[in-house]
Amino acid sequence: MTTPRGLETTAGLLERLMEVVRPEFRGEIFFPPADSRVFVQGVCRIPSCGIALSFASRRLCQGHYQRWKKAGDLGFEEWIVLEGEATRQRSLPHECEVRECRRAMKGYGLCNRHGASWARYGRPDREAWLARTTYSPPRASHERDCEFPACPRWTDGPEMALCRAHYERWRYAGRMPLAQWFVHVERLRNPHVRLHDLGGQIRLEIQYGLQRRHELGSQHTSPRVVTKAVGWIRDSGVHSLMDWDDTEWRRFCRPKPANYDTLSLAFIKDTRFQLHALLIDADPWADQFPRDTWDLKHLGLNTSDLRHLRFADITLPWLKDLVKRWCRWRLSRELNPSTVAIDVRSCSRLAQYLAHAVGEQGGPAELTRERIEAWLAHLQATVPDPTTRSSAIHSVSAFLKDVHRNAWQPELPRNAFIYDDAPKRSHPQPRFIPEHLMRQMETPQALAQFPSCDGRLIVEILIACGLRLKDARTLPFDCVVRDNDSNPYLAWLNRKMGDRPAFFPLSEELAAKIVTQQKAVLDRFPAGSPWLFPAIHSNIDGSKYASPKRLRQQLERWLDDLSLVDELGRPVRVTFHQFRHTLGTRLINADVPQTVVQALLDHMSPQMTAVYARLHNETLREHWKNALKINAEGEPALISAEHPLADAAWAKLSMVRAKVTLPNGYCGAPVQTDCEYANPCLDCRFFITTVDFLDQHRRQRDDTTRMIADAEQAGLRRVVEKNTRTLNKLDTIIDALESAEDGQIVAGGKVEDLDAVG
Ligand SMILES: [Zn+2]
Ligand SMILES: [Zn+2]
Ligand SMILES: [Zn+2]
Repeated sequence: MTTPRGLETTAGLLERLMEVVRPEFRGEIFFPPADSRVFVQGVCRIPSCGIALSFASRRLCQGHYQRWKKAGDLGFEEWIVLEGEATRQRSLPHECEVRECRRAMKGYGLCNRHGASWARYGRPDREAWLARTTYSPPRASHERDCEFPACPRWTDGPEMALCRAHYERWRYAGRMPLAQWFVHVERLRNPHVRLHDLGGQIRLEIQYGLQRRHELGSQHTSPRVVTKAVGWIRDSGVHSLMDWDDTEWRRFCRPKPANYDTLSLAFIKDTRFQLHALLIDADPWADQFPRDTWDLKHLGLNTSDLRHLRFADITLPWLKDLVKRWCRWRLSRELNPSTVAIDVRSCSRLAQYLAHAVGEQGGPAELTRERIEAWLAHLQATVPDPTTRSSAIHSVSAFLKDVHRNAWQPELPRNAFIYDDAPKRSHPQPRFIPEHLMRQMETPQALAQFPSCDGRLIVEILIACGLRLKDARTLPFDCVVRDNDSNPYLAWLNRKMGDRPAFFPLSEELAAKIVTQQKAVLDRFPAGSPWLFPAIHSNIDGSKYASPKRLRQQLERWLDDLSLVDELGRPVRVTFHQFRHTLGTRLINADVPQTVVQALLDHMSPQMTAVYARLHNETLREHWKNALKINAEGEPALISAEHPLADAAWAKLSMVRAKVTLPNGYCGAPVQTDCEYANPCLDCRFFITTVDFLDQHRRQRDDTTRMIADAEQAGLRRVVEKNTRTLNKLDTIIDALESAEDGQIVAGGKVEDLDAVG
């Protein structure tokens, strides 16, 4: 029987397992299916070996890898050839030493028959006897070929199917039908997991864990790793994996860090998770909601960075219930779980304060506005970082608002609200990396030291194109596009802006490095991967992109190796994100207008860009003044970069790429955009025109005026309306063009400098 612990109940688990564990996972020995990509990683490169690989080094099976390590100073290729022949020899039963006899040896280097004959001669000196003995076919019991696959030996007689050696093995294995025994022997040569001495339920549990790994298909699972786990389970003496929680298993197994041990423990923990999921699959929320820690994986909401939401710090029961209810509601509205996790932490701050102030018995009525104000003051005194404080206050503010709005707690005082109580935001500090540090990092020698090829290319892309790390990690496999002049651009997706497509000019050199990376990806995933940087681990089918954790660790190692120091010789740390700010600074320093910088970096915040603009010198100020634009109404205006229709910089970039020439200008829409404006383009935000087209616009204005007059005469009101709109647009554009100077264009109805395009 299983022991129920706390909320855990494993009643009915055995019955569920009997229903779901499939026959092919039920044997006393688990033999991985040969075509399994989860349990098998190909076969040993020694052709005469052919053993399936699991976690192979140098594409050798375990046995051969150990032999290679002991091979001394032989070259690898040379060793492969020699070892291939040696392996074949070792796999064959020894042969009788009498010339031309091909029976298997029994003893004294001789087969059964020649052994008996040597004994008959009174066991003379063997070498001498062998020298004068020749093989002659026996009269009665002549030999046959052994039936064991690829065995070149003879049987000991016509009635035998196997040579002496194979016969002994077959007898020892229990004399099963030969065909079945051949399969069995082959399977036992390959990695497998023995479960024969485990009790019924726990064996089924492990089998279910294996079955789930197989079904999920994403994680390499070496039989060796499972065997280690099974060893621990056997030693533990438990009847069910659910008898102990994860912490108890960790304490019992004591895995060696950075070793296959951790994978073995992970197998136990994953299997426990799967068993739990099997028990609650009807209603995971009913299972998770009452808990102090929610496992988001059971709710299908976990991310690579976040698995649990913890409510244990909220001790007031009414408040804990309310916060949980709020979180469940927010998660069901598909809010990012990371945001919800911040909310929980923020509410915990309030909860701890409140529990201290009113005692554990305090009810909702205690949470008055007065108390909230006292909490805000407490925060101010205890949380020095204004960003942390702000985020706590915003979370709790949203919480209180939602509780009131949904009438979740009638006893909550009506004035329990947070208004604009958050601290004023401080100005962002410049976060670029000083040039003398960049010089230490950017040299080819320094870059060559980066611990991985994909990580190195990511660093180069971050330095050159200023992407956020997430946008670089999630670059699509095909991420280079070329314009009409065949200039390469990085086509990336701005994940922070709802996967908005964005472009950044690339050097040919960097484009070539991307091609090299694409080839490496195809080498690893011949069927392709959607990503330029597929994840290294747990990614059998290439469907996952690179994890930030590994890249950050590699960055740390790289910085350690480079021993970056500042002007005073002190060690310096940089983050991936600082490369983005560095590029922003470099562009500003190169006199690229702020709006263009913002557009190139696809919405680096205007505040942050402005910080760099302020940093820059007088020439920038000149440029800044010139950046005062004339808007469609003919008034000077600073173009807001957020305004989608007036995204000047975007339009300018588009100008470079303009693919379609229109009778009256150019279409700056990206190639992949379907044009939603049927004909005149005048309404379109991608419409770009220059002084060169002024005559066409004037002609169109005359035509339109005539058409309006005709339509008015005919009483066609819709036509009049439509054309009047066109007429107004044309007037705006013509006015703008008449005021534009050389080198300026009109984009989205506004005058823009063309020089910034470079
Ligand atoms: Zn091998
Ligand atoms: Zn013989
Ligand atoms: Zn044989």
